[in-house]
Amino acid sequence: MFRRSASEMRVLILAPLGRDARLLADTLAALDIETKISPDAKILIALLAEGAGTAIVAEEALTADHVQALAAWLASQPPWSDMPFVILTHSGRPSAESKRRAQELEPLGNFTLIERPVRPETMETAIRAALRARVRQYEMRSRQEALIQANADLEQFAHSASHDLREPIRSISVYSELLKKHYEQFLDLRGKEFLSFIHSGAQRMEGLLADMLSYAHASSISDDAPEPICARGPLDAALENLSGAIRESGASITVGEMPMVRMRTSHLEQVFQNLVGNAIKYRREEPLHIRLTARREDKHWLFCVEDNGIGIALEYRKAIFGIFKRLHTNQAYSGTGMGLAICQRIVERYRGRIWVESELGCGSKFLFTIPA
Ligand code: ADP
Repeated sequence: MFRRSASEMRVLILAPLGRDARLLADTLAALDIETKISPDAKILIALLAEGAGTAIVAEEALTADHVQALAAWLASQPPWSDMPFVILTHSGRPSAESKRRAQELEPLGNFTLIERPVRPETMETAIRAALRARVRQYEMRSRQEALIQANADLEQFAHSASHDLREPIRSISVYSELLKKHYEQFLDLRGKEFLSFIHSGAQRMEGLLADMLSYAHASSISDDAPEPICARGPLDAALENLSGAIRESGASITVGEMPMVRMRTSHLEQVFQNLVGNAIKYRREEPLHIRLTARREDKHWLFCVEDNGIGIALEYRKAIFGIFKRLHTNQAYSGTGMGLAICQRIVERYRGRIWVESELGCGSKFLFTIPA
């Protein structure tokens, strides 16, 4: 499972003065460890980019500029990578100077200082430890790649399944309607009842598939953060989509100042639409008030959609975000149980969090964060 190219286990050596590099290469060759000598720091970075298990570097070969260039290369590495460096220092230095040097090398991250002259056993154990750590990193990379692939396959499957199922279900819905229109008079009471079951089942399935598609789309987001947008735009669009339900319910809606966020408009619109739609759906007899606010908290924006509806019992506060999870029958409140799962998927894709604060009978506060 864990494939590696040959260059990924080699040991790079940068020790331009004297015979250090040659001696090191010979010592490691005797241990069956592949090496590659680099004449300077610039070439070392190029070689690192082609792949390496670890790098042994004589400290005199590293100026502050080189350390910076190496740190920039390290910063461009994927999260699984943490290249181990073995730095050969001068012997017999006052400890204050060694400490200062170690601080200068800090940007390298994962490094070990070894004082010269180095005993062969010391070098061997240091290099073996570094290579072992690197192998673990490669294993992590393989697992991550496998996970990303499995996720992508699953998303593709959900997308195709919901997309391809739409057509036949649409046919059932349309033809059951035509049957009702043209042949209802030929059916007895039971026949009419069966027909209405077929029709409402097909309509429900259409709703489910539309939500499954939204769920699959919620995850299709690239790694680059989108350009900032004002959250008021998608919020207004969501309220416009819900204008019929808002009018019918007589809801009064207040909206606070909305911030700029790095999100796709369609994603934020979907989150607002699902949360406000739910606030309308799960209302009580008394006049409905919905309040939408946002405020800055530390490194993120905290959005809140608050209602004075039926509320949610403590034990269901987590479960309601699960796929197809519903607390009511379709007769009491229609729905697919996907709305909050879609919200959660969208918010988490932007590295945010979503949760609810509520008590049964006392309204609900849906809160979500988006990095500022
Ligand atoms: P759906 O509304 O289609 O059932 P959701 O995923 O949007 O699916 O919501 C899951 C469940 O969470 C709902 O069935 C309902 O019981 C509860 N819920 C969601 N929003 C609210 C709300 N604002 N007030 C009370 N209950 C809510």
